[in-house]
Amino acid sequence: MEFDNHCVFCKIIAGEIPAAKIYEDDKVLSFLDIAPFNFGHALVIPKTHCHGISDLPDDYRDAIFAAAAKIAPAIMRATGALGFNLLMNNGQVAGQEVPHAHLHIIPRFVDDKVLLGASQKQYQGSELAEMQAKIQEKIAARNA
Ligand code: 5GP
Ligand code: ZN
Repeated sequence: MEFDNHCVFCKIIAGEIPAAKIYEDDKVLSFLDIAPFNFGHALVIPKTHCHGISDLPDDYRDAIFAAAAKIAPAIMRATGALGFNLLMNNGQVAGQEVPHAHLHIIPRFVDDKVLLGASQKQYQGSELAEMQAKIQEKIAARNA
């Protein structure tokens, strides 16, 4: 279990900063986001300091997703939400402000005007096939 003295989420895990906890087990902590997109918006974090999905140890990765699958329906029942977004920002450019891996569970309501996506792009000509090949190549190289 890694701990970073400067990390706000590590401080929450250590009990140095208060949080409205809703779930906890040996690998996972979940608490309400302090600035929610909708009320009931929660964060699910691994109890080890790592930056995102790619450096998260497998057992902690599995544990946060398993916890989110249990917590999200409870948030829906508690809030009356009809759906939810499960979201993970990886990297500053993707909107990650706290550099400790976390899943957002954002309960959703009809016409709630929560804007999570912008415009979608369109591939032209061979661009889609080229992108497919490039990513497949990188995946294969990583697994080699
Ligand atoms: P990110 O932008 O990194 O994906 O999301 C970080 C989230 O953590 C934000 O939604 C922000 O409101 C929340 N957050 C930041 N600091 C605290 C805190 O001290 N306590 C709680 N409960 N949430 C926090
Ligand atoms: Zn941390």
